[in-house]
Amino acid sequence: MMQNERFYSLNQFLRKRHGEKVIKLSVDGGFTCPNRDGHLSSKGCIFCSEKGSGDFIPADKKSITAQLESSVNMLSNKWPNSTKYIAYFQSYSNTYAPVSVLKAKYEEALSFPNVVGIAIATRPDCLDDFVIEYLETLSHQTHLWVELGLQSINESTAKWINRGYALESFDKALHKLSLKNIETVVHLILGFPSETLLDMLSTARYVSKLPLQGVKLHMLHVLDNAPLGSFYLKNPFDLLSKEEYIFTVGEILSLLPPHFVIHRLTGDGDAKHLLAPLWTKNKKQLLNDLHYYLKANNIYQGKSLNIY
Ligand code: SF4
Repeated sequence: MMQNERFYSLNQFLRKRHGEKVIKLSVDGGFTCPNRDGHLSSKGCIFCSEKGSGDFIPADKKSITAQLESSVNMLSNKWPNSTKYIAYFQSYSNTYAPVSVLKAKYEEALSFPNVVGIAIATRPDCLDDFVIEYLETLSHQTHLWVELGLQSINESTAKWINRGYALESFDKALHKLSLKNIETVVHLILGFPSETLLDMLSTARYVSKLPLQGVKLHMLHVLDNAPLGSFYLKNPFDLLSKEEYIFTVGEILSLLPPHFVIHRLTGDGDAKHLLAPLWTKNKKQLLNDLHYYLKANNIYQGKSLNIY
């Protein structure tokens, strides 16, 4: 963590590692997910949108190269074309295919100009030994990390969200990845209706002791193109207020070790499909308020690590 910073951001980490600004470009690798294709379930996780949580990817572009080109063109006003990129395989489960297919897709992304690494979002039950072996090889050639959507360690929450795997499956996959020194990032969702602050902090405390390199925090978004949308319309439930979310994030950050990279402090719900909570639409304001809160209360990553 840099001096005067309250948490170790992805931006800092990537600058340190690559010597300059690096931007993540989301791509849809054309995969599906065993929790959606009928292998485990056809419903998917309750919060997962019809695009497999890859709502901002230029969907009309078929090839990975075309998607990357389109994103680079969109960003060219903000960032020069020489900026370095991480290709982020975001939609669905991006290791759910034979190694030969993964190889072709990842290598296409890595051959795109200025791509210096690859981030792969997937599920722990889509990481067999062949896949892990391939990822290990690739991690020696480029900057690679894997992102796993755990969301919560609470098994009743896992059932409610239809996650389709047990905590043990996550632990086993993470253990295998860490034995191969493959960087791994966990996604956590805050604000499930059945979870209390203590439940969320239990999850944070649990992951803080694992061989992870990063965490992504998301507020639970209710989208009308996800199963949660119709559930919510029939059974409205309380969501965290912005103030409660900020407080919870502060408590969680204080429990996370300083070497964990904080990839996100909140997710991006697609505003067109967002039913609730509407305060998440103004992400800039949320992040400003969050930074102000951390500063005003002298909260920083790892502050309470040794207290519990
Ligand atoms: S594992 Fe990921 S892609 Fe599959 S249903 Fe759950 S959130 Fe969606």
